[in-house]
Amino acid sequence: MKENLGYPEAHPSFDQIFEAYNEKVESIDEGALKNQIKKFVILGALYYVNVNNEKRYGVHEGNHCHFICEKCGKVKDVFLEEGAINMLTEYSQRRIRSASKIDKVNISFEGECFDCK
Ligand SMILES: [Zn+2]
Ligand SMILES: [Zn+2]
Repeated sequence: MKENLGYPEAHPSFDQIFEAYNEKVESIDEGALKNQIKKFVILGALYYVNVNNEKRYGVHEGNHCHFICEKCGKVKDVFLEEGAINMLTEYSQRRIRSASKIDKVNISFEGECFDCK
């Protein structure tokens, strides 16, 4: 199913996945698909980023950051060197000390994409 979700770079919303799945794969119950996606997120195969209060899904392929266009909501993957993300994570973990334990990194940059400029 992972492959069938299509256009991973686009970080589709649930509605877009639902539509594409129904069109290209098979008709599926909305609730069933929702559960399926939830499972994939728990397993770590999928992740999501919040854009304008909407969950936008991506196929997990290692730690990366996102660029989010504030105008059109486009999401683009930003791959940094692993070391850069680790350094930020370790630094942040030291800052919050024992109060919390970081186990997921979610870094987003925002701005305007060139299609909107
Ligand atoms: Zn844009
Ligand atoms: Zn991504």
